[in-house]
Amino acid sequence: MLSVSGLRASYGPVQVLFDVDFQVAKGSVTTLIGANGAGKTTIMKSLAGLVAPTDGEIRFEGRDITQVPSHDRVNSGLCLIPEGRLVFPGMSVEQNLRLGAIAPAARAGHNQMLAEVFDRFPRLRERRSQLAGLMSGGEQQMLALGRGLMARPHLILMDEPTLGLAPVMVKQVFETIVELRDAGFTILLAEQNAKVALELADRAYLLENGRVALSGPGAELLASPDVRRAYLGM
Ligand code: ATP
Repeated sequence: MLSVSGLRASYGPVQVLFDVDFQVAKGSVTTLIGANGAGKTTIMKSLAGLVAPTDGEIRFEGRDITQVPSHDRVNSGLCLIPEGRLVFPGMSVEQNLRLGAIAPAARAGHNQMLAEVFDRFPRLRERRSQLAGLMSGGEQQMLALGRGLMARPHLILMDEPTLGLAPVMVKQVFETIVELRDAGFTILLAEQNAKVALELADRAYLLENGRVALSGPGAELLASPDVRRAYLGM
């Protein structure tokens, strides 16, 4: 579904991605793991069209989207749930969700999509009139995800969805990711929480200093002595 090859990106004179290659298969959960600053967010932003790569190619559903503006990527089914969630704190839960359906492709039938999101996250239905800024971190993560679903994505990019969440909410976020995969969504997940991310990953890529250092099925990386030593503290 997604194929990235030779991706390079820089901030000013500083190069942070070096010839990154990876693939995401339809219906899978693919994870990017790596330490702080390894380049996960920069990859996610490059995919969403928020950072312009200096080289390389991004193909989504067979089409080269490397130069496509970010709003067109959303229209074609690619949705980023950003790090830090970025819900609109002064707007209600429902207003935040409806904003997710602003793309032309999502506008038709958005009431039905809202009902589906509420069915998936009953907590959001209970809180539909509440200001988003008054929700807990975990609830805001569900809201950010629900807002993304409103755009009817084929591929969901989730950047560090568990950052700053209590353990019980971390568990819930991972359960939600598995449920979404089982419902047919394709997910690319950037995660520092390497153990759980590898446990659920169909395929995983370990990033080090802007390069793919290791890749394979999640279970294979989980068993790798290098990964266990450096990322799992074992
Ligand atoms: P984190 O988990 O901390 O978000 P990450 O793996 O997502 O880490 P990136 O945020 O992609 O990593 O950062 C990769 C490199 O690019 C780091 O060295 C970081 O300091 C640098 N960087 C990120 N954003 C900017 C920016 N806006 N301007 C300059 N350098 C940046």
